[in-house]
Amino acid sequence: MTAKMLSGKPIADAIKAEIAAEVSDMREIHGFAPCLAVVRVGDDPASAVYVGNKVKTSEEIGLVSIQHHLPAETDDPELLQVVDELNNNEDVDGILVQLPLPARINDNAILESIRPEKDVDGFHPVNVGRLAQGRASLAPCTPAGVIEMLKRSEIEIAGKHAVIIGRSNIVGKPMAMLLLQENATVTICHSRTHDLASIAMEADILVAAIGRPGFVTGEHIKDGAVVVDVGINKVSSADDAAQFFQGEELEKRLRTISNRGFTLVGDVKPHDAIERASAYTPVPGGVGLLTIAMLMRNTLEAAKQRRRIEL
Ligand code: NDP
Repeated sequence: MTAKMLSGKPIADAIKAEIAAEVSDMREIHGFAPCLAVVRVGDDPASAVYVGNKVKTSEEIGLVSIQHHLPAETDDPELLQVVDELNNNEDVDGILVQLPLPARINDNAILESIRPEKDVDGFHPVNVGRLAQGRASLAPCTPAGVIEMLKRSEIEIAGKHAVIIGRSNIVGKPMAMLLLQENATVTICHSRTHDLASIAMEADILVAAIGRPGFVTGEHIKDGAVVVDVGINKVSSADDAAQFFQGEELEKRLRTISNRGFTLVGDVKPHDAIERASAYTPVPGGVGLLTIAMLMRNTLEAAKQRRRIEL
């Protein structure tokens, strides 16, 4: 079997176009656009790129965006005060505090200080609880993007056995809740799971969210399974890249390594997925592209709900 490649770009573009149309209607009918506030602390280069992409996408689709960049020395009370101001600012619909925060800061206290109706990352315990009860309005963006990818690719979820490798609060656990809500039968694996390969081998839908390059190989993939690779890992040596790619793709990746110092790979060995799966989301270019689109959708939803607007 040769897997169908599930590309994230056309799906992300379609979602963004739908949101842009609603935002434009909102401006025309109600005289305002949803506003997303992004808070970044310190100078982590990856966070700077992520925040830059979120702000750029917000502006492209017509949202209002506010940025707060605080120094690395910011302490909990100072950050809580910024969140509090945004909570109380009636013009702000969504608040996102970019993770990771400096180690000194208490992540949980900060995330819990965001008003649940403005929590567009879906990490507040109230939103996590609603998700567990099957009535999520603001679900975490990466797993929500996976569901959107599967649905828009016309992949049946109901009744299927979905196996998720990884149980983080950001990806694995909310992924399980969302798949359950779509009537899949769900198994979660993690670092203490015994005989993980046999469990993975039973999956109709296999989601890898581990953070280990090429962890999932042919011995984890049932013939005809749908393989979703959420992992984003950097590989910087030619030898490592050769474990993942061959031929023209390897040449391309080696050029990327020599230009940027690294290339991105997922948690799944691409060749094994292509050979065994019926459908596969590549890295880069797969579900990763949907995360920002879902953040935009959460911001729109947060604005509609808080301001009680129907379009
Ligand atoms: P975490 O490190 O928080 O969680 C990793 C999970 O994988 C843990 O539950 C861990 O198990 C499990 N795990 C680690 N090693 C093994 C192993 N040997 N066998 C079985 N399970 C294992 O990572 P995240 O969930 O935040 O991210 C996962 C991946 O997804 C990363 O590559 C990340 O970059 C990517 N990602 C992509 C996003 C996007 O596309 N936009 C967004 C967020 C993440 P245990 O709990 O037992 O330690």
